[in-house]
Amino acid sequence: MNSIVEATLRHAQEQPERVAIFFDQQRITYGDLASQIERFARALRGRGLQPGDRVALFFGNSPEFIIAYLGVQLAHGVVVLVNTQYRKVELSHILNDAAVRLCVTSEVGAQEILPLQIESLHTLILIDGSTSGSISLADFLNGADSISQQRQGGTDAPVFPEANDPAVIGYTSGTTGRSKGALLRQRNLLTNSIAVTSAWHWTENDCLLLTLPLFHTHGLMVGVHGTLLTGASMVLRQKFDAADVLSNLQNNHAITMFFGVPTMYSRLLAEVERQGIKPRQLRLFVSGSAPLSPQVFNAFEQTFGQRILERYGMTETIMNMTNPYDGERRAGTVGAPFPGQEARVVDVQTRRPLPATEIGEIEVRGPHVFTEYWQRPDATAEVFDADGWFKTGDLGWYSQDGYYTITGRARELIISGGYNIYPREIEDVLESHPDIAEAAVIGLPDADMGEQVVAVIVPRTDHHPQAPDIISFCRQQLASYKKPRQIIIVDSLPRNALGKVQKHVLAAQLQTP
Ligand code: ATP
Ligand code: MG
Repeated sequence: MNSIVEATLRHAQEQPERVAIFFDQQRITYGDLASQIERFARALRGRGLQPGDRVALFFGNSPEFIIAYLGVQLAHGVVVLVNTQYRKVELSHILNDAAVRLCVTSEVGAQEILPLQIESLHTLILIDGSTSGSISLADFLNGADSISQQRQGGTDAPVFPEANDPAVIGYTSGTTGRSKGALLRQRNLLTNSIAVTSAWHWTENDCLLLTLPLFHTHGLMVGVHGTLLTGASMVLRQKFDAADVLSNLQNNHAITMFFGVPTMYSRLLAEVERQGIKPRQLRLFVSGSAPLSPQVFNAFEQTFGQRILERYGMTETIMNMTNPYDGERRAGTVGAPFPGQEARVVDVQTRRPLPATEIGEIEVRGPHVFTEYWQRPDATAEVFDADGWFKTGDLGWYSQDGYYTITGRARELIISGGYNIYPREIEDVLESHPDIAEAAVIGLPDADMGEQVVAVIVPRTDHHPQAPDIISFCRQQLASYKKPRQIIIVDSLPRNALGKVQKHVLAAQLQTP
């Protein structure tokens, strides 16, 4: 077996009646899912899709998203994932960069895309209607039916993609700058999903409550792939809503797992407190995509009576590290590499491997790692060394007993007066202050020190903490050179769709007079 789509179609043959997706009032069985994927793939081929052609998906969470995603792969096309919050500037960058030939979108999406006049784009498929310059999903699929009728039933067995075939171009979140397209092959997707599902004891008896966006690694390559590989089921939601999640957790006893980003967990905890209830436990709660603060980790354990499992991944590598399923889940750490994958920490300058407890850049290697940035040989060459180690751009260290801790991004390292300062360490201290809800620490240019530490904070209540008090709070817990020189109070931090703080946006805002 070489692909997730092949695994899905096999489950459909063995247990066609099993439900794969619950979405609003719909229940989609593996049998339905498989026949719709095959129909979608036929329609693509009917429109002349050639192996390797790029098809973009630009619409929200829905069964259609999963059908199109796997249909493109079954037709040997390459899926281009597009963040649904993106508008003209980002869309034009991605659709042109990937030279997308077909795009599946909504009416709203079409309004953004049509005026861009993307040269390579010759078919725009609308899931919810049709406008001039596009075709409705129903008409597109009817085209597939007439093709199979011409072949009298059209029951040709599908030809599955092979292990080395390009499968997906995932654009990175653009947390540190402009997003890059990471090309993942079928073997990257499959081997990673095998590692994840076995590490987390995921079986066909599981049901995942999935509220993460499907255009991103976390929701798609962990949530959807794991479900379909194991023949399990999912309750798919359009988006995260704390009250909706809590009511699902309390009332739907089929649900065994929930995956979220840290902001979802803080909102969920606030909702539990607001409703004053005792939440139900699940087999597994997973957090990732951004650092889970020890405060939230501990508060969750107190409230739910179980520990969140934190893991670490990225668009280029899917999942890298995980806390143990059975062993100790340690606050502030991301655990160890998944089975079959390697990791190490190297000195940022010399690139020599460092021993336990020393901070450097995390590098990873293994069958899960992407092969290239799409048409960016320069960017690709920069991130791989001669032995195939991939430079993650994340800083961190590992303990004597092998737990990794991420201390921040290499690019966000602050060098002030010759000292290396890791923003995350200061953010953790700030967020432990009772009056501070959220904090982001950045380095701004400083004539004297090179850079100076600036803390941007969101107060917890209307009672605004005073800058001198906050600085002395930090000073009591950290070396003096790490304390913020400036405190800026804001209502909210700029975050992307995954809840990650966009520090480059923050720095630009602060530097604009
Ligand atoms: P860009 O590469 O465009 O700047 P990005 O790195 O945020 O954006 P993604 O690939 O979506 O894009 O995110 C991967 C990054 O998310 C990792 O490199 C890491 O910095 C961060 N991350 C993921 N999981 C964790 C975690 N558990 N703890 C801390 N950081 C995490
Ligand atoms: Mg990145």
